Parts: sequence; structure tokens; C-alpha cells
Amino acid sequence: MEMNPRIIKNIRKVDPYVPGEQPQHRVIKLNTNENPYPPAPGVERALREIDTDRFRLYPDPSANVLVSALAEHYGVSTDQVFAGVGSDDVLSMCFLTFFNSGKPILFPDITYSFYKVWAELYRIPYECPKLDENFRIVKEDYYRENGGVIVPNPNAPTAIYEELGFVEDIIAHNPDVVVIVDEAYIDFAGRSAVELIDRYDNLIVVQTFSKARSMAGMRIGYAISNPALIRYLNDVKYSFNSYTMNQTSIACGTEAVKDRAYFEKTTEKIVETREWAKEELRKLGFEFPDSRANFIFARHPRYDAGELFEILKKQDIYVRHWDSKRIRQYLRITVGTREEMEQLFSALKAYIR
Ligand code: PMP
Repeated sequence: MEMNPRIIKNIRKVDPYVPGEQPQHRVIKLNTNENPYPPAPGVERALREIDTDRFRLYPDPSANVLVSALAEHYGVSTDQVFAGVGSDDVLSMCFLTFFNSGKPILFPDITYSFYKVWAELYRIPYECPKLDENFRIVKEDYYRENGGVIVPNPNAPTAIYEELGFVEDIIAHNPDVVVIVDEAYIDFAGRSAVELIDRYDNLIVVQTFSKARSMAGMRIGYAISNPALIRYLNDVKYSFNSYTMNQTSIACGTEAVKDRAYFEKTTEKIVETREWAKEELRKLGFEFPDSRANFIFARHPRYDAGELFEILKKQDIYVRHWDSKRIRQYLRITVGTREEMEQLFSALKAYIR
């Protein structure tokens, strides 16, 4: 059917975010920064105890048990925590709530590509200061008038972590706008900006259960800030969809947060594998900025990244590659188990001479 162009004209058109592939057959999956270990044992217990009769009822719209567990874990009060359906949902609500001045918001040119999509979707103007030649954020670029700032730390896909003082400088130079610090990968990296929330009324820190807590499939994310910003965020969320988080995610997420020891142990294992993987990549001649996340952003001076990507994919080893300016020659490789990484390296060794 030929569509009426007058209908088309008034449709909101967006170039959507393109997530990494989720193949349906078994592969060595190093393409979407998932955790290779299962979630905390308490999650399975919580699932077994779920009473399906309760599915008749709506979930708690405030996700109170989860919010309380997070508040306790981070040593903040419950009115400083907002929970959502993955940090994508939380970030999207933050864009809608905080970026309304009409002035351009700022985020790096090479970063999580969803930021641009939300800005376009909500018609928020934006500017993207360039990372320097070593893929570092230039903090002074964020010291000009703007409508808000979002900085990921560590950045993705570069995996570069900036020390807390660096992030604090950006927050301190932007007292009139909200600064979102996206800490999806912070648990593999270093100090979190959560410790600054009582000092800066413009700061909101966003984290996720998808990486260090091994629960990408349950879709849980959260923001930590001061009670005033959290209240505004909740007002928008309740104006959009009251019941964002389902009962099962709330129950499982709560168990995951409570098990600090398991979280620390698996995170430590991933960091150890990452450090070893860096050595192996170096021996093969790869170059990469120092990774502090659960992935490594690497290029080989003599081999085309697109070709390497295809060669690995043929052997059912999935990594991520973007055919876009400045990063075309890079592969983003998620840190899997030691065994998965060994298989990756043996495939690379067979090809790289
Ligand atoms: N921020 C960054 C920097 C990410 O890489 C991701 C993962 N794709 C997210 C946020 C969103 O993760 P999730 O929605 O699974 O919490």
C-alpha cells in the first residue's frame, strides 16, 4: 500500500540505537559486555520462591524493596535512589527530566551511541566535543555554557577510566545544569562519583545490574542523587508509565544487591582475566587504550578490524565492530571467562603472523 505522504510527514522519525547481535545459537559471545558468570546464588532462590498467584497484581510502582537494598548498599537514603528497567530506561528518563533548557547538551563524540538517539528522540539539541588523539575526554571542553552534560566513566567503547577528581571538575564547572555520570562499568574500574552526591546538587549517577551483577536479561538500572532530583525523576516516570519494573526483576535484583561477597568475587575474576587478556593482546601486536572496564578496545596495526571481525564471527566468536569514523579499525572485545578468551586468542593466533 502506498502511504499518504501527509501522514508520513507528521510521524516522529528516529534512527534507532542498534544493539549488538544476540545470536540464537551457542557462540563465544564477547560482543555486548555481558558478564560470563551467573548472577548471585540468591537470585535463583528468589526465583524458586516466586508465587505466580501474585502475578495477578500490579508490581510495587516504587520498587521499594529493591530501592531499600540499593540505599543500604550505597549508604544513602531511600529517597536518593531511583530504579528503572535497565540503565537505558533510567538514562532516557533523565534526558526527559533534566535536559529542557533548549541549549545544547554535551557528551563526547565517541561514546555510548544511545545518548545521541535520546537527544534526537526528545529533540534536545546536543554538541559532541571530540575525544583527543588518545581517546581521552578533554574536560575543559565541558566548561562552556550548555543545557546539561552526560559523561560515562569508564567511557564506552574506549574503556578509559578517568580519576574521580577529573569527573568532579566537570561537575563543579557546571553548577547551573544537571550532570549525569553514567557508571555502567564503574565496578571494574575505580572510585565512583556516588561519594560526591552530598556535595553537588547537580549530580546524578547512573549504574546498572547488566554488567558486574550479571543480570542484563532482567533489565535493572538505577540512579543515585539528592532527594530533589530523584523526586523530579519519579514525577516524570509516573507520568510515563507507573509500573516500569516487574515483580520478578524487583525480587531477583534485591537478592543480587544483598550478596556483596559474590559480586566482589566475580568482579575480581573478570578484572584478573582482563589484565591477562591485555598481555595476550599485546603479544599479538594489538594496541589499545588501557582498559578499566569489562571490555578492551583494540586495533591491530597490520590487520583490518572489519576482516578480523568477520574471521572471528565465522568461528562463532562474536566481538563488536563499528564501521564509523575514527573507530573503524577497532574491535571492542568483552572480557569473558579465561576459557572463552583462550579460544579467542587461539583463533587470532591462527590468523595473525
Ligand atoms: N551505559 C553504557 C555506557 C553502556 O555501555 C550500556 C550498555 N549497553 C548502558 C548504559 C545500558 O545498559 P543497561 O540498559 O543494560 O543497564
